[in-house]
Amino acid sequence: MSPAERPPLHESEAPDSTSGLAGFIRSAERRTAAEALAPNRDAVSLEALLGGAAEFATQLTDAMRGESRLHERIACQAGCGWCCHVQVVVSAAEALHVADYLRKSLRPDELERARARVAALHERTRGLSREARADTRLPCALMVDFSCSVHPARPLRCRSWNSLDLERCKAEHEQPRGGHLEIENVQWEVTRAVAAGLGDGIAEHRLDGARLEMTAAIRIALDTPDAEARWRAGEAVFAAAAVE
Ligand code: SF4
Repeated sequence: MSPAERPPLHESEAPDSTSGLAGFIRSAERRTAAEALAPNRDAVSLEALLGGAAEFATQLTDAMRGESRLHERIACQAGCGWCCHVQVVVSAAEALHVADYLRKSLRPDELERARARVAALHERTRGLSREARADTRLPCALMVDFSCSVHPARPLRCRSWNSLDLERCKAEHEQPRGGHLEIENVQWEVTRAVAAGLGDGIAEHRLDGARLEMTAAIRIALDTPDAEARWRAGEAVFAAAAVE
C-alpha cells in the first residue's frame, strides 16, 4: 500500500496476515502479551497489558515513519469525532478495560447515562454488518460533546485511525463508505497488527482473544458484574459480541 492509500472499507479489517511486516509486528506483540500473562494471568493488570500494547504501537509507528513527513499532515485533534460513527472491533480485554475506566472515572449518575447510551446504541446496531453500521451514521455511545470520553482507555483500533484531511472525514460522514478518506497507513497498519498480536497472545493463555463488536462487548462488560473474573477463568462471556 502507498502511505496514504485509504483502507478498503470504512472500518476495514485488521491486517490479519501472518506474513510480511504486519505478520512480524503481530508476532512480536503476541510474544510480549503471552509473556506478560505467563507468570500469573489472573494477576496481570489489563491497564498495564493494554497500555504496553498501545505504547509499543506508538513507538513502532514513530520508528517506521523513517524519513516520511506524511504524518505531519494528520488533521486529528481533541474534540473531533467525525470518525467515531462506525463499527469498532475490540478484544474482550479492551472492553473490560473501557468498562473499568468508566466505572472509575464517572459518578454513579454519569455511569448510568453511559450505560443507557451503550444499551440504546446496541439495540439499534446489533447484528448489522460493518457496512450497514456505517450507513446508520450513529455516533459511538462513548462520544460525549464530540470527544471520546474514554480517550486514555480507548481501544487499539481507535488509536489506529487518523486522517490527513478533516473535510474528507466530514464528507465520509455525510456519505458513508464513499471512499473519501485519506489516511497515513503506517499508524493504521502498525496499530492494527499490534491489536491482532495482542488477541493472539491472550488466546495463547486460553483466554477469549476473539474479535468483538465494541458496543455489544462493552454492554456485556458493564452489565455483567463478574465479567472480568469469568473472562479470566476462561469463560466465553463475550461470545454474543463476536464478529467474523
Ligand atoms: S471509543 Fe472513543 S475513539 Fe473509539 S469510536 Fe468511541 S468515541 Fe471514538
